[in-house]
Amino acid sequence: MRKKIVAGNWKMHKNAEQTEDLLNELIAQIPTESDAQIIVAPTFVNLASAVDHLEFTAINVAAQNMHQAESGAYTGEISADMLKSVGVNTVILGHSERRAIFHETDAVIASKVDTALKHDMTVIFCFGEELKDRQSTTHFNIVENQLRDGLFHIEAKDWEKIVLAYEPVWAIGTGETASPEQAQEMHEFIRETVRKAFGSDIAEDVSILYGGSVKPDNAKEIFSKPDVDGGLIGGAALNAKDFVAIVNAI
Ligand code: PGA
Repeated sequence: MRKKIVAGNWKMHKNAEQTEDLLNELIAQIPTESDAQIIVAPTFVNLASAVDHLEFTAINVAAQNMHQAESGAYTGEISADMLKSVGVNTVILGHSERRAIFHETDAVIASKVDTALKHDMTVIFCFGEELKDRQSTTHFNIVENQLRDGLFHIEAKDWEKIVLAYEPVWAIGTGETASPEQAQEMHEFIRETVRKAFGSDIAEDVSILYGGSVKPDNAKEIFSKPDVDGGLIGGAALNAKDFVAIVNAI
């Protein structure tokens, strides 16, 4: 069954105290009967406390990244087992900032996907074209290649652990949003691409989130599109008022 999901990607924001403050506000304000799944992704150092804090709530915790190796001499990195050991069962992989700033290739992301699945984790798989791709109308090809090269090697049974997050790079943190029609057009294409490779059941069941400057005033229209199953929210996830408004828009 396809799920509605609103996930907040906090990026490199919020120290320990600020994390606790924002979580308290979210606990107080997010309706417990929401039929959307709510996820927050604080920084690594605050994951364990966030899991503790949210234990008896409906809010889930995700990591923003992880390393593909099981363990070893990878100074500064975090493994799947470490995340699982503090109660984190979901990880965002392939975010455009990881791809652009930290040079993560489709092959690296594919191997992170494998490690996450091996550890029975849910993967929020991010992908999306840059402005130059859209201007040269290669955006559908780019998106299809990112899916094929980073994800489509998985087995059919693994899809229950996959959430897709389409994030056009030109809309991330820029205040520029894809129009609801542009989002729907691409989400429909993504679902069709999954259908061709893995069949209708998987394509219908997979949640496809939109990310890129989602705000309280545009969330409802974007979420109303038939192939948009929720959002991955950056800037607007950093304050409770906006994030809760976006949750309520679903
Ligand atoms: P934004 O970020 O909402 O600030 O554009 C989205 C994301 O990077 O996930």
